[in-house]
Amino acid sequence: MERIGILGGTFDPVHVGHLVAACWCRDALELDRVLLVVANEPWQKTGTRELTAAEDRFAVVTAAVEGVDGLQASHIEIERGGPSYTADTVQELRVAHPGAELLLAMGSDVAAELGTWHRFEEIKGLVTLVVVDRGGAAPKGAAQERWGGARSVLHVRIPTLEISSSELRERLRRGRSVDFLIPERAIRCIRRLGLYSVSG
Ligand code: ATP
Ligand code: MG
Repeated sequence: MERIGILGGTFDPVHVGHLVAACWCRDALELDRVLLVVANEPWQKTGTRELTAAEDRFAVVTAAVEGVDGLQASHIEIERGGPSYTADTVQELRVAHPGAELLLAMGSDVAAELGTWHRFEEIKGLVTLVVVDRGGAAPKGAAQERWGGARSVLHVRIPTLEISSSELRERLRRGRSVDFLIPERAIRCIRRLGLYSVSG
């Protein structure tokens, strides 16, 4: 049975935190692949700030995972268009991969908000939940509780990488280095596309 990991995000831009999370899930859970699903319109973030065009965010993720075993950028939410709901994405993946086990991975910050997700009950029936714990004490209780006790929640512990896309956007805007925080190929893609007010 194929085991497919799903790591959704805005990836504005993708960074080493996302990539380490994906790679460690791949290895710890013996996943055949991990899809980095680029949100078309992340409904939790729209209205709060200007987002980079989805196709551009996708291009940068594609560059970042090029040549990385088992990691793949997914265009599925961009193709569907409109606001991106995880329930629609897992439904679609379920149909596309009828025999596969789907494992939905997320950081503990996202897992803490699980209960507020659209059609959460539907998602629950279709995937195994994976919480990526970043260093420190693993806050296992919250996700477990929201997931409904009986069903198991898997935990993958990764090193603490205290970086966020928000912080990287700010660094890029100021012309500061993001070397090693974003893979080199992805940085080149950002420059080529002239994103985050960086050119060259
Ligand atoms: P923003 O600063 O805009 O919120 P972000 O860096 O948090 O961006 P997202 O696209 O929101 O990135 O996150 C996608 C997924 O990656 C989420 O499940 C999130 O928990 C996880 N994630 C984000 N940053 C890290 C990190 N530094 N280490 C591990 N996982 C991370
Ligand atoms: Mg975030």
